[in-house]
Formats: sequence, C-alpha cells, structure tokens
Amino acid sequence: ANASDLIAEYRSTGTLAALPLGHFIDGAFCRPSHNRTLESFDPGRGEAFARFTAGTADDVDQAVQSARKAFDTVWRDMAPVERARILQRASHLILENLDLLAVTESLDSGKPLQEALGDVRGAARTFEYYAGACDKLQGDSFPLGPNYIGYTIHEPVGVTAHIIPWNFPISTAARGIAPALAAGCAVLAKPAEQTPFTALLLARLLSDAGLPDGVCNVVTGTGPDAGAPLTTHPGVNHITFTGSVQTGRAVMKSAAEEITRVVLELGGKSPVVVLGDCDREQALAGVLGAIFENAGQICSAGSRLVIEKSIHDDFVEELCRRTKALKTGHGLDRPDVGPVNSAEHLAKIAGFVDRARGRGADILTGGSVTQDPATGKGWFFEPTIIDKVAAHDELAQEEIFGPVLTVQVADDADHALALANDCRYGLVAGIYTSDFARAHQLAREIDAGQIFINEYFAGGIEVPFGGNKKSGFGREKGLEGLKSYCKTKSIAARIA
Ligand code: NAD
Repeated sequence: ANASDLIAEYRSTGTLAALPLGHFIDGAFCRPSHNRTLESFDPGRGEAFARFTAGTADDVDQAVQSARKAFDTVWRDMAPVERARILQRASHLILENLDLLAVTESLDSGKPLQEALGDVRGAARTFEYYAGACDKLQGDSFPLGPNYIGYTIHEPVGVTAHIIPWNFPISTAARGIAPALAAGCAVLAKPAEQTPFTALLLARLLSDAGLPDGVCNVVTGTGPDAGAPLTTHPGVNHITFTGSVQTGRAVMKSAAEEITRVVLELGGKSPVVVLGDCDREQALAGVLGAIFENAGQICSAGSRLVIEKSIHDDFVEELCRRTKALKTGHGLDRPDVGPVNSAEHLAKIAGFVDRARGRGADILTGGSVTQDPATGKGWFFEPTIIDKVAAHDELAQEEIFGPVLTVQVADDADHALALANDCRYGLVAGIYTSDFARAHQLAREIDAGQIFINEYFAGGIEVPFGGNKKSGFGREKGLEGLKSYCKTKSIAARIA
C-alpha cells in the first residue's frame, strides 16, 4: 500500500490493519498464553490506535532460547557472504515497504512523515552498509619468528539484546541489529512501549529476506516487565541500551551481575557553537534543524546555542522569526514540527519552561503547550527559544528532550569552548565558523563523541557515533560499531 492509501485507511478506521500483534519469536508472530495487551497512542491526536502484546520474563526467556539455538545451529557458522546476501535483501525489502514502515513510524512516534521516510531509508542504508561488512571481518597475524604462527579471529559475541527508545524506533533498531547480524550474532530487540510496531515489521521483513528462524526476535512490552528481564538473563551476551541516563544506570547495574557486556547510548545536551565569522545562512538553517527536527526529541539535538556576543542580537532575532513561521501539526500532515511523544513527556517539557518562567527567564518565542491547529487535539509544545541562559541553570544542564532551545552568550571562542564543555553530557557538538583552523581546534577541545562542522547532523552510517561523559560509552555505526558484537580471539602456535 502507498502512503496516501494508508493515511486514508487510518483516517477512516482509526487504525492500520497491517500492524502485527504478538512478539516475533523463532521466525513467527506468537501470542503468549496470558494474552495481555497494551495500547499504543497516536501523539498527534492523543488517542490510542492499536494494541500490542505486554511481554514478560517468560517471553524474554523463550526469545533468548530461540536466539541461542539459532546462533548455535545455523547462524554463527553460516558463510559470511551468505549472511551478507540476506542483509542486502533485507535492505531492499525495507525500501519496498517504505510507505508502510514510515506511516507506522509517524503514527506511533508522532514524527513528521517526511522525517519518518528519512529514518526508514536510513534503516535500509544501515542494512546495506553492514551487508558489505560481513565478509570483511579480518583478523591480524603476528611476526613471531619462523617457529610460530600467531593470528586473531573475530568471533560473534553470541546472543545480543537491543533496548530501544521511542524517538528513533526503526533507526535505533537497525543500527544495533544490522551490525550484530553481520558479526554473526543472534538478536533479541525490545522496542519502547510507546513505539513497538516498526521493530516487529522489521523482524518480519528480515525473515522474508531469508534470515533463519530465531536469529532475530522481538519482544514488546514495558521496561520493567520486558526490558529488565533481558538485562539479567544469563543467556544474553551483550546489551546495547539506548535511552535515558537513569535507565542506563539500572541496565549497567543489572548487567554487572552476569558480567554482560554493555554499550550505553544515553542522553545529551549538545552545544551548537556559532562564532562571529560563520556563514550566517548556513548557521541559521543548522541551528533551526538541530533543535526542531523531531520536535527536539533527539539525543543529539543541538539544544544549546552557544553564540558569540558580536552577532547575538541579529542572529537570534532572525532565528525567532523563522521559528515563529514553523508549522505545527499531525505527523501525517507533514508539518515542520510534530507533537511530542506522550502526555507525560509533554508535562515534563512544560515543567522545565514553567519553572524557567518563574525564575524570570527571557522566553523569546513559544513557551506553551498547544494542539494540532487542524483538530484541536494532540500533545504539542510550541517551538521555543529562551535567551541569555546562565551556564548553571537547569535549562543549560538538563536534557529537556523537546522543542526548546537554550541560548548561551559567549564573549569569544575561548568562552564558547568553556560553555560548550560545562555540562555533564558529551554526545555531540556543532561548530559554525569560516575559520577552519579554529573549527578543528574547537573540535579537538570539545568533550563529545561526534563533532559537526558547518552542518549539524553531518555524516551517515559510515561515521562512528556515541557519547562521552554521562552520554554513555561504546560506539555504534561505522566499522567501529561492529566491534561491540565481536570478541577477538588470539591464537598462537609453535609449529617447529
Ligand atoms: P528510557 O530510558 O525511559 O527507555 C528506553 C528503553 O528502555 C525503553 O525500551 C524502555 O522500555 C526500556 N526500559 C525502561 N526501564 C527499563 C529497565 N529497568 N530495564 C531495561 N529496560 C528498561 O528512555 P526514553 O524516554 O524511551 O528515551 C529518551 C532518552 O533516550 C533520552 O534521554 C535520549 O537522549 C535517549 N536517547 C539516546 C540516544 C543515543 O544514541 N545516545 C538515542 C535516542 C535516545
């Protein structure tokens, strides 16, 4: 079905018939005996539109056993080129199902349809990229003299678990599952309870692409009921967790019990440093997209504008003009800015802004809860800019995870660097300047896992991604992202 048919179906029935129910275990959708379900909501209307299965520790155990069996009997020893062909076919199937996946993602998360289409294309690209990596996991050999041989091989770590947040459901699923499969691991994914559907659809497409039964399993449900059991399960060899710092800490503690490996992709409060000599147009467009894409619900959102004093007034005035012109609306109507994901999350965002207002904050534009202008429904927050925020203010320190830009004024580039680093997070940073030497000096000095120069969100699946400080550790994407899913074995032998 194409997007307009699916949207028409949703508008007339309030749901989509193609949405699956049940966990995906051992190559098929299965409903556990207890049959409990949860509702998933359309944030653009604030109404439930589908049900999904509430997973339990028993379901997780069944999925882990299925993954283990598939790993031991078929997947680990499959020729890498065969694995590559399956991942490549999966990439094609994702694109063939682009509209269904994107409409589902937009409905479930609230994000504008054009962004969801981009995410799904990105997921296809991720499978394509890692398809190419399957048969290139080469080891080293070591010069030990004529009487010895020494070499390394990269073995899959085994069964990997992927705990996924609601803001980039299919992207996050793909960036964990694809490299894990490429390395020869069998996987179990647990999507967020707010956005369970695209991970389920992805698992079925992988199966259609020829992935053997049990190699990719998906269990839906809440964090405590379906997420926590996989962090303590002795059959899980590695956990990739993407989500909040608070949950990441709990996951790391649980994983410690079984000495299970973890990669933690946590929150951010990323600075966008704009210096006086920047290309103004480039910087304006960059700053706007960095905070309002996905309504600011991006771990790597550029949520702190750190701007040199010399251009502050003029730049911020134009930024406000453009922000006021942004159209808010239901994700399927392709707005500039969609809703935020849940009523609770909306209240959290509003809380930050209300407290700031109480402290006398300089709210230049936005600042309030709102609705879809077309229907008067949904969970929306106005695109907001708050000026001249002090470095210690919670607005500059805490992740708001909404369409709220905090402006910090810097005297010069050194001051901008100090402000950029004055934060417990260190996920990414943006730099806008026409002085390339200075850009590179700043890039070296800013404590973040990824730096964007003159284009925020630059780089694709080829470039490693991950946090410093409280933003976590470990890297995903790129060839670096494969390393999490491999364990190096060294072999040395006396031969004479
Ligand atoms: P969250 O931590 O509440 O939930 C993330 C996932 O963890 C969900 O699937 C949830 O069900 C599960 N979970 C909750 N409790 C659990 C437990 N005790 N054990 C195991 N799993 C549990 O985060 P969220 O609100 O869904 O996502 C927003 C956060 O994610 C933000 O902080 C954002 O910055 C971060 N994030 C980071 C990245 C990154 O790559 N660094 C990407 C996207 C989002």
